[in-house]
Amino acid sequence: MPDRIESESRKLLGRLRDVMARPGAGQARLDRVVQLIAHEMRFDVCSVYLFRDPETLELSATEGLRPESVHKTRMRIGEGLVGRVARTRQVVNTADAPAERGFRYMPETGEEVFPSFCGVPVQRLGDVLGVLVVQSREKDTCTADEVYALEVVAMVLAEMTELGAFVGNDNGALGRRHYRPVLFRGATGQEGAAAGRVWLHEPRVVVTNLIGDNPDHELGRLRDAIDSLRQQVDEMLASAVSVDAEQVAVLETYRMFANSRSWMRRMEDDIASGLSAEAAVEKEQSLARSRMGQAADAYLRERLHDLDDLSNRLLRILTGQGRETGAQMPDDPILVARSIGPGELLEYGKRLRGVVLEEGSVGSHAAIIARAWAIPLVIHASGIITEAMNGDMILVDGDQGLVHLRPEAPVKKAFDDKLAMLTRAQAQYAGLRDLPATTLCGTTIGLHMNAGLLADLPSLPSSGAAGVGLFRTELQFLIRNQMPKRAELSALYARIMAAAQGKRVVFRTLDIGSDKVLSYMKPQDEPNPAMGWRAIRVGLDKPGVLRMQLQALIRAAAGRPLAIMFPFVTVPAEFRAARAEFDKALERERILGHPLPERVEVGAMLETPALAFAGDAFFHEVDFISVGGNDLKQFFFAADRENERVRRRYDMMDTAYLTFLEGIVARCAATDTALSFCGEDAGRPLEAVVLAALGFPVLSMRAPSIGPVKHLLRRVDLREVRAVIDAAKSGGDPVRLRLTEWLAGLA
Ligand code: PEP
Ligand code: MG
Repeated sequence: MPDRIESESRKLLGRLRDVMARPGAGQARLDRVVQLIAHEMRFDVCSVYLFRDPETLELSATEGLRPESVHKTRMRIGEGLVGRVARTRQVVNTADAPAERGFRYMPETGEEVFPSFCGVPVQRLGDVLGVLVVQSREKDTCTADEVYALEVVAMVLAEMTELGAFVGNDNGALGRRHYRPVLFRGATGQEGAAAGRVWLHEPRVVVTNLIGDNPDHELGRLRDAIDSLRQQVDEMLASAVSVDAEQVAVLETYRMFANSRSWMRRMEDDIASGLSAEAAVEKEQSLARSRMGQAADAYLRERLHDLDDLSNRLLRILTGQGRETGAQMPDDPILVARSIGPGELLEYGKRLRGVVLEEGSVGSHAAIIARAWAIPLVIHASGIITEAMNGDMILVDGDQGLVHLRPEAPVKKAFDDKLAMLTRAQAQYAGLRDLPATTLCGTTIGLHMNAGLLADLPSLPSSGAAGVGLFRTELQFLIRNQMPKRAELSALYARIMAAAQGKRVVFRTLDIGSDKVLSYMKPQDEPNPAMGWRAIRVGLDKPGVLRMQLQALIRAAAGRPLAIMFPFVTVPAEFRAARAEFDKALERERILGHPLPERVEVGAMLETPALAFAGDAFFHEVDFISVGGNDLKQFFFAADRENERVRRRYDMMDTAYLTFLEGIVARCAATDTALSFCGEDAGRPLEAVVLAALGFPVLSMRAPSIGPVKHLLRRVDLREVRAVIDAAKSGGDPVRLRLTEWLAGLA
């Protein structure tokens, strides 16, 4: 950029800072800003359009257009040239606006005498807040340097908006960002509802010092910060676990960016035109974020994410703001994060009321923990980390996958009513705690809980569960960054058994692979991991870990009963091989003179359709079978349980699936094999009633589901349920519909 323009730009930024520093109402400040830009940059018109709501832009201040059109002229995003700039986040620079595609004439503004038009997005960290427009009588386009200077000014405007410089009660849409209500439509990671206050996992760095008076000083600060950043990245690389190829690859990318000349050059230019070092970093970060939103290529998006993370680090170095911002965690925190690892999530402990993630998946580790804690989790809440501020009121509806940020009073009221209803229902369920789940026809269903953490065990007495029907042992492996030791595991299992106070706990051996990847194991590049090398397949091919875990379980039992089951058994030979490992481990412990379990039960999870057709011998060999309905359903319907597009497509009450489940019940009855069901469907009251009617004597579910399931079971006669199912089946009617009608008739 020529020196003259650089110094003019610096002068303009200096004046903008003065506007900020002076007291005054928001509108007056913004009016002053547009005047300054028009006069200093010698344009006939300068206007700012800001969002009135997520879809509508409003002319918020102008120098040069008719003042009466301010707060009157509006356009939808995408509409006219201003709307186009907002939608595409691209500059529109034309000498003849009326000749441009999509031009919309707004007569109330008097703009017909200004044919040239240049609009730049006012954006912050990839979020478009509005559009800055300059216009002239002369038919001329802006030069590249002028566009650049406008972009710098737009960046400062965005920051000023963010800092609330234009907030006031006289100014319509101004500064409403981070104040207005926003609804996010994400996806369900874990059902449930919670209201609370936002707690950001990575609080944003707040840049208050936007304008640098002394470019040399700012350049020096930037260079020092970049040096520290490079050093940090080198240290991280040196300490990275060398086997973790993915982590090393990310750090290598960081290093590449940290040494990137073009990134550095752009920030140097920004500083030369008057920005402070941190404002320059944020300007480039904003650009990267807006590209991120548009990049179709997943690889490119990942790299832009890397650049974003690196910019955050650089901002923390420059501003001295760490994660610790001194903010006080609210009493009712709802964690908001882009994504979060299981270890970090566990550090927050059970005080979180809910979790909202921009990314994440149903089967992610965070989801597994949220499930274990029984708190609602919404994933894919795109844009929430830039919109939410620490302390904002937030309502999480895990059932619908919705998040209301800063809700309006009626929404909050409706949500509170829902929560109150849930609380009343919980109190009603608590009254059932010590009563059996006995139906009107006199059948008692065993209700057990699923668990995965020691912290889940207090729910055993409070929920009235008869035992733990599924203890997912992989969580202990997932939350560490190295393989746990046998002694550690054995101590943990012993504590779990002690906490269960004699109630049965069924430990499922390690189910890793598929979505559950251990950071310290070499990642497998599998085209279809859900059907790949997972669970017992890994256990049998690499028996070291399985043996270690079996020993830990046997030692933990020491004189107490022990129940274990193997996940994802597909053919009887796999069960036999795993059982042989268990018997060997038992024998070894006996030889070593360690106390053995009082008695053992070794079962198999039935999670693949194939196992339902195994020979009778298999059913006689196993001590029990537990149907893992989550996996079984995904393989029965060939519908990925983690894919939002298909995971709800097929109903558990589909007649083909019910017939299939009936077959499993019949085979277990014929061979006198103990049977239970431990997938998520067991925890949904209507589904649980169907399973009971089909003949499942034991259901295992999340602890909070026990109350609602018991409540419904105690109100029904399973023979009648069965009759409704059979009638619907033979009539070709939807079972769910008929059952719901029948239930409504009961009330
Ligand atoms: C299942 O598949 O139903 C099950 C209980 O196991 P997980 O959800 O851990 O795969
Ligand atoms: Mg499973």
